[in-house]
Amino acid sequence: MKTEYPKLPGLKLTARTIYCIGRNYAEHAKELGNAVPTEPVVFLKPLSSIIYSGDAVRLPKQSSRVDHEVEIVVALGAGGRDLSEAQALASIAGYAVGLDITARDLQDAAKKKALPWAVAKGFDTFTALGKFARASAVTSITGLEFELLVNGSRRQHGKSSDMIFSIPRLIAYLSTVFTLAAGDLIFTGTPEGVAPLKAGDRVEARLRELSKLELTVERG
Ligand code: ZN
Repeated sequence: MKTEYPKLPGLKLTARTIYCIGRNYAEHAKELGNAVPTEPVVFLKPLSSIIYSGDAVRLPKQSSRVDHEVEIVVALGAGGRDLSEAQALASIAGYAVGLDITARDLQDAAKKKALPWAVAKGFDTFTALGKFARASAVTSITGLEFELLVNGSRRQHGKSSDMIFSIPRLIAYLSTVFTLAAGDLIFTGTPEGVAPLKAGDRVEARLRELSKLELTVERG
């Protein structure tokens, strides 16, 4: 069993904390029947859930609906507290495509009871990371486009320009609560089109030419 901190492919960093943003695209908030938030919705995922391109997502027996959520993932190379948006932008080490895999039935049950999402979001293999592109390779953070294909057909497509809270704004907001540091990851939210995965599916995700991810799906 591996016990060291997971590496961030493409960067000389290990993962530290996985911050995730919920409901950062208006169309996705609507498809799940949620109000569009006025301040970022934040939750955490465990480091033990990380997998990489070439790995398999395992569908846990406790769930009968496991959804894909494709997202832009930001890795920090520096951190701090109460960062300005300019400092937040300067703290980014790289960008990757990632999947925030979610046991939707367990999440829906938790939401009804106003309970946390740690189980619904935290199973082993539920956080997939593509290789990171260095921040210097990204000329416009509002021009990032990403997509997810299942068995060759496109299920999700997003643009960073459609985010409710921009990437620098999200980092600045997080730094008002948490002391951020190198190796922290931020999953910046998923666009509409979330749908269930089934055993045997072949999943591909891309952040333009910057980062890609290929996964298989099997029963847990
Ligand atoms: Zn998500």
